[in-house]
Amino acid sequence: MVLVDKNQCVGCGICVSVCPDAITLKTEKGFAEIVMERMDCLWKVIKACPQNAIKEIKDRLFFAIGTDDHQTIKSNDHVGKSAYFDIFEYFEGTLVFKETRENPKYREDETKVHGDPGKAKATASALAGVDVLVGRLMGPNIVRLKNQFVCAIVREKEIADAMDVIVENICAITHEKNKIDIKDRRGLILK
Ligand code: SF4
Repeated sequence: MVLVDKNQCVGCGICVSVCPDAITLKTEKGFAEIVMERMDCLWKVIKACPQNAIKEIKDRLFFAIGTDDHQTIKSNDHVGKSAYFDIFEYFEGTLVFKETRENPKYREDETKVHGDPGKAKATASALAGVDVLVGRLMGPNIVRLKNQFVCAIVREKEIADAMDVIVENICAITHEKNKIDIKDRRGLILK
């Protein structure tokens, strides 16, 4: 699937002149958007974009969203203190709920302070196979967690709204996930 990375697009419009049927410029948003996947011309645009903002995304990614109630994202504390992680799979432009995992190990560590390495380990143990950890708040353990996951902050409260924001930012998320040296990974604030 070919997408425009809205975080890199500067709205120059070169892509629209090369491939007008497939791309429109959303002037009110300030970035381009693929409206038709016409690969015959999109390959030319991928090369022509001065920002390298047009990308083919083939990845299948698993997301964990920290929650206490399966409707809203954990808001009153760090994501590692969520009662549950709801797991979603992204593929070809769609984010689909897969399962809920409890975060029981965290409760065993209730006496430990924020940033304790044991907490990061407990959180990670509930997240086997996950690529991206999503929360509204992340504590000092983000330093350890980002060695295992792309850590993404969303401002939305409702999980349904956060899902839309995740899909809109999939290029940036995939970019962080695929960094060769994990030390180069940045935490993301998704808008
Ligand atoms: S050419 Fe690239 S930077 Fe310019 S509007 Fe198109 S996608 Fe955005």
